[in-house]
Amino acid sequence: MPLTRPRKARQPMPQDRPDDAFAWIDAQRERRDRAGLVRRLSPRPADSPLLDLASNDYLGLARHPEVTAAAAAAAQRWGAGSTGSRLVTGSTELHTTLERELAEFCGFEAALVFSSGYAANLAAVSALSGREALIVSDAGNHASLIDGCRLSRAEVAVVPHADPDAVRKVLGAAEGDTREEAAEAAGAVPGRRRALAVSDSVFSVDGDAAPLAALAAACRAHGAALVVDEAHGLGVLGEGGRGAVHGAGLAGAPDVVVTATLSKSLGSQGGVVLGPARVIEHLVNTARTFIFDTGLNPAAVGAALASLRLLRREPERAARVRTVAMGLYGRLTAAGLTAVRPDASVVSVRAPSPEQAVRWAADCRAAGLLVGCFRPPSVPDGISRLRLTARGDLTEEQVGRAVDVIVKTAPTA
Ligand code: PMP
Repeated sequence: MPLTRPRKARQPMPQDRPDDAFAWIDAQRERRDRAGLVRRLSPRPADSPLLDLASNDYLGLARHPEVTAAAAAAAQRWGAGSTGSRLVTGSTELHTTLERELAEFCGFEAALVFSSGYAANLAAVSALSGREALIVSDAGNHASLIDGCRLSRAEVAVVPHADPDAVRKVLGAAEGDTREEAAEAAGAVPGRRRALAVSDSVFSVDGDAAPLAALAAACRAHGAALVVDEAHGLGVLGEGGRGAVHGAGLAGAPDVVVTATLSKSLGSQGGVVLGPARVIEHLVNTARTFIFDTGLNPAAVGAALASLRLLRREPERAARVRTVAMGLYGRLTAAGLTAVRPDASVVSVRAPSPEQAVRWAADCRAAGLLVGCFRPPSVPDGISRLRLTARGDLTEEQVGRAVDVIVKTAPTA
C-alpha cells in the first residue's frame, strides 16, 4: 500500500573542473535549462498595473487600510522585531490576543502562533509523532507537511491522493504492531503505537478539498490523530471562513489538530497550530520550530489580528471568494479549457507541456495579467498547469478581462 517514489539516477560529478567545488551546480543548471525548468524571480513593483490572479491574498486584505494601519501601529508599539524566541522575550500581549481570537474563531481550545505556516507544519507533525510513530500522509500534501514527516523520523506511509480507505487500511494494518519497547521508552501508553494522518484541507496545486469527515472517521476507528493544514481553507471555507475543518463539524474535536498560515486569507505573515490545550502546551515544550525560532514580528501579528476581526465583521468575504472561483472555472471550461472544479479559491488550468505553460503565463503577463505557473518538480504528477487564485475583491469586469486574456493566449496544441 505505501507508495515509494522511484529514486532518481545518481548524476555523475563533472570531472573537467576538479578544483571547482560548485561545478555540479552548473551541470545541474544546464540540465534544468534544457528541460525548460529554470525558475526566475520577477520582483513586483509597488504599484503594479498587472491584474493579479497569482497571489494568495484571497480576501484582498494585504493592502486593506485597516490591516496596514494595524501593522504600522503594532510595529510602533511593540518594535519592528519581536526581539527573541517566544519563550524568552518574543511573546507580546498581542501574540496572546491573536492566539485567543484565532482559537475562538476556528472553534478550538487553544492556538500557538509561529513565524510561518511552514514552521507550524514542521512543529505539528514532528512534535506529535516521533521515531516510533506511524504517519499516513496524502500523496498531494504540501512540502512543509512532507518535511515535517521527514523531521519526525517516523515511519511514513504515503497514500494515494484523497483516499480515506487507503488511510484506514494502513492504520488498521499497523494496529497489531505495538512496538512496545520503543513506544514505552518514548513515554507512550504501553501496547499502543502512536499514529497520525496528515492532509491539506485544500490542496495547493489543484485546489480540491480533502474528504475530511471520512479521514477523521478512519483515524478515530484506529485511535489515530488527524492533522489538517488549512493554509487554503481558512478564510474561504466553512461558516464565515472558519475553515474546512469547522465546516466538516470537526472543530474542537479531541483528536484533531489544525495548522494554517497567516499569509494567505489573513494577508499577513506567520503560521498557527490550533487544537486541544494539552497539545498546544506540548508544542510549547517540545516543538523545535517554536522553541528555537524568533517569535513572529509584531507588525505581522497586528495585521493578522486586524484581518481576523475584519473577517468576523464581514463574513460574506469568504463566500465571495468561492463565487469568483466558480465563475472563473465556469467561463474557462465553457471556452474549451480543461480545469479542475475548485472547492475553494485555487483554479487549476491544464497546460500541454512545461514549455507551453511558461509561455502561456508569459503571454498573460504581457497582456496585463499575472497568473501562477506550476510545473515539475513542484507537481509530482508531471502535469503542468496555470494556477489562478480567485480573490474576493475582484470585480466582474476584472474576472471577465482575466478570462479573455487566458483564453486568447491559450496554446493551440
Ligand atoms: N501549507 C500550504 C498548503 C501552503 O500552500 C503553504 C504556503 N505556500 C504553507 C503551508 C506554508 O505557509 P507559509 O508560507 O506561511 O510558510
